[in-house]
Amino acid sequence: MKVEGRRNNSRKRWVSELINPITRTWDEEAIRSCCAPADARVILSIKIPVRASEDFIAWSAESNGIFSVRSAYRVGVNPTIQRLSQGQSSSEPSGDRSIWKMVWEASVPQKLRIFAWRVATDSLAVLAGLHKRINTVNPTCSICGQIAEDSHHALIRCTLARALRDETRKLWRLPPEEAFEYNGKEWILQLLCSISKSDRPKVIFLLWRVWHHRNNVVHGDGKASITASALFIVNYHRSFLAARYPLDQHSSEDPLVHTKWIAPTEGSLKANVDAGWDEVSKTAGLGVIIRDHKGQVILTEWKHIQACASAEEAELQACIAGIKHLISIGCDQAIVESDCLRAVQAISSSGQELSSGWALCNEARDLIRVFGSISICKVDRVSNGAAHVLAQLGKSGFDSLLRGEGPSCVSELIAQDCN
Ligand SMILES: [Zn+2]
Repeated sequence: MKVEGRRNNSRKRWVSELINPITRTWDEEAIRSCCAPADARVILSIKIPVRASEDFIAWSAESNGIFSVRSAYRVGVNPTIQRLSQGQSSSEPSGDRSIWKMVWEASVPQKLRIFAWRVATDSLAVLAGLHKRINTVNPTCSICGQIAEDSHHALIRCTLARALRDETRKLWRLPPEEAFEYNGKEWILQLLCSISKSDRPKVIFLLWRVWHHRNNVVHGDGKASITASALFIVNYHRSFLAARYPLDQHSSEDPLVHTKWIAPTEGSLKANVDAGWDEVSKTAGLGVIIRDHKGQVILTEWKHIQACASAEEAELQACIAGIKHLISIGCDQAIVESDCLRAVQAISSSGQELSSGWALCNEARDLIRVFGSISICKVDRVSNGAAHVLAQLGKSGFDSLLRGEGPSCVSELIAQDCN
């Protein structure tokens, strides 16, 4: 944050002097005495982590705090990338060819287009490519150990890529295996060319997730689950379409895209969570509803939160509340559904979180370790309707926890979900 103004000539030089070391809470009096009221309000709404942790540097031009070339361009280095990334044809090598339009005009989120573009221009950081530049880098795939890792191996041929493709096939109809064969340096463009228009976004979603998963194995803790990743792809694709085509125009094209709550399988529980945030008062409301495989309500909660810095933090708090209730019930297999993509991604990914919600994100990641299996999924707002209504109750200043049934204001939504 950028501090707007000072109140007096305070002698305090370090942020740590504004924190009570015993209670690990802000020293409200000290903050109010040295900062302007607006700054004090923002500072007091920043959550101090429950456990001590190292300082880190975060990039302010991305909400996730991670530096990206794209945001650097956005900041002003090269405004043309904006035009490019908005789907106009590239002026890069072969950029005037219509084949590139399949990348820039694909019906996928922007970061996935950029990912596909990196694959097509052979600029993905695969080991074989790194080896060319730094010959001490071992080019052999560190997942299967079979062969040098180029982009086609990493995204298509490697054991990990095959496993995720097979798992995704259980949920989606994908092009036949032959379509994924290597056919030259521009294999991804050839692949996208050879398949139907409706399959193109699915393949980009899949390859993007394979790369994410590969990075989790190579650079992260390697704990990402193939099943969870496949579900994530389908949910992410579904919610992207729902946001882009709110009138459900896509439903006839893809039978898997729908806006309806789905009960969990027997033996597991599903928590739907949501948050509502008020920017002026920096307060929020959380809503949680936990149901079993029959759609029976196990628990509902709505809660008012006094100091909350951002909408994303409110959503993370809602996820944490849902996860904590699942733990207190003694649930071992669970699904948590939120309609906030950023919160879902922050908790599910294994990379260091640099956004303002990092303390909450780490708390959530610690909590989900206790489950035998847990998926954190992004859903559209319609199928998260009950949690949304509960969050609005919380936002209006009410707190409550009910076991075995929901409040009457959501009973109709709950009945609809089960139909
Ligand atoms: Zn491999």
